[in-house]
Parts: sequence; structure tokens; C-alpha cells
Amino acid sequence: MDDDIADLAAALSAAEHAVVLTGAGISTESGIPDFRSKGGLWEKYDPFEVASMATFVSEPERFWAFHRPRIDMLSSVEPNAAHRAIAALEGRGLVKALVTQNIDRLHARAGSHDPIEVHGSLDRGLCIRCDQRVSLDELVARADAAEDGVPRCSSCGFQMKSGVVLFGEAMPAAEIDRAYEEAASADVMLVVGSSLQVSPVSELPGMVLGRGGTLAIMTEGDTPYDGSAQIRLRGRAAVQMQQVLEELPG
Ligand code: NAD
Repeated sequence: MDDDIADLAAALSAAEHAVVLTGAGISTESGIPDFRSKGGLWEKYDPFEVASMATFVSEPERFWAFHRPRIDMLSSVEPNAAHRAIAALEGRGLVKALVTQNIDRLHARAGSHDPIEVHGSLDRGLCIRCDQRVSLDELVARADAAEDGVPRCSSCGFQMKSGVVLFGEAMPAAEIDRAYEEAASADVMLVVGSSLQVSPVSELPGMVLGRGGTLAIMTEGDTPYDGSAQIRLRGRAAVQMQQVLEELPG
């Protein structure tokens, strides 16, 4: 057994309040490309542009031409062993909270109790003008029924979006507050599959380190915390999270 896996298992086992923070890298083994890896989304699209509030407002057809197939892709994938291992650790009481930057709902589908989704979620449709809310199924039905592929609010007629936070859009304040509260209580933080470059989530590991807590990073690529994390794993998350789970008593 890899020493770092054993160290991570021991840290989780001894923790009073372990918090897991995940990013796009945890879902690549489910078939969802991340943003920054080779073959990731940034090689094909500029997410700052196509997934931005500015494009949604001024070019809804182009926005929906990108998003509609993405909803199908995100709905067709399954959680992997890393999502399931985190849910199992929650079930054993070893992980107290899960903060995710992902919008793919795979944590909830793997059995995580109440993931804190700081970038929103693909679980609903909403109108930013009059706040009409609909299910994801209804949003998709409206997009598919529209000649231009743009779902519209049945109350005010404005184009609708999903619950995913766009670039240029405010993050959900309640979720961000909860994420900060969890980081403020954490004595161990495990980061899985995140480059830790997107603020404000990128500040959370620093909060834990600043109070003398333990930071473990399980991410293939580099992060700004690589020099300060006490435990640094660079393998595939699905394999390594399963190994961590097996190292811990059931
Ligand atoms: P990122 O793309 O910046 O970084 C992902 C990191 O995970 C990279 O360092 C990569 O090397 C690593 N990685 C990839 N596959 C891995 C694996 N199998 N095991 C371990 N590590 C792996 O992701 P980020 O930090 O989450 O920031 C990107 C932003 O994009 C976030 O805001 C997120 O909301 C959004 N996003 C979400 C999804 C999703 O919901 N699945 C997908 C793409 C982007």
C-alpha cells in the first residue's frame, strides 16, 4: 500500500471534522471532460465565453446550441468509484461535509447526503427575469419544442437557463457561506480532482492550513497548494479513493 494512501486514511480516521472538496477531475472517469486537462473542454471551447451570462443574454441561440447537447451528455453518465467512496466515507461518519464545484449531480446520485454545490447544479431551469422555476425535464422539453432551441419562461417570455452558475453570474450566497463555514470547522480537508484555481473555493484549503489543519490533495495536475499540502497524491481518483476506503475499517 502506498504510504500516502495510508497517511490519508489515518488522517481521516483521526479527524474530528473532515471535509472533502471536489472538482471536475473527480468526474473525468465517468466520462465528463474537465476544463484544464489535455483533451479537456478548454481545448475546444472557451468556457468564459460560451458559458457566460453575456452570451446567455445577448446570444441565447448560440448559448443553447452549446448547452442542449451538454445536458444530454451530463444526464447519460454514471457516478464512479471515487464518488461512491466519498458517499461511503460520509456513511461511516468519517467525512462530515462535501463541497463540490461540479454541476453534474454525480455526488448525489452516488449517495452523498447533502453536497454543497457552490457552482449550482443541473437540476432545474429558471428565469433570471421573473424567477419562474421549472424541473430540468420541463426545461429540456421547452428547448426541444422551440424552433430556435431556446427554452422560454411561460410567464414573461425571457430565455431560461439551468441552475448551473455561469461566468459573470453571482455564485449562490447560501452555498458559498456553507462552504466557508465547513472550511472554518475542518481539521482535515481532502481535495479531489481540482486545480484549485477557481475562486472563492481556491481559498478554502488555505483556511484549513492557516489554523494548523491537514490538507490532502488527490489531483493529477498541479495546484497552488502543492508545496504546503501535508499529503499529495497524483493518481487516478477512482482507484485511489477506493484504496483509501479499503484501508479504513468498515
Ligand atoms: P479543473 O479542470 O481546473 O482541474 C481538474 C484537475 O483534476 C486537473 O488538475 C486534472 O489534472 C485533475 N484530474 C483529471 N482527471 C483526474 C482523475 N481521474 N483523478 C485525479 N485527478 C484528475 O477543474 P476544477 O478545479 O473543478 O475547476 C473547473 C471549473 O469547471 C469548476 O468551476 C467546475 O464547476 C467546472 N466544471 C465542472 C464539470 C463537472 O461538473 N463535472 C466539468 C467541467 C468543468
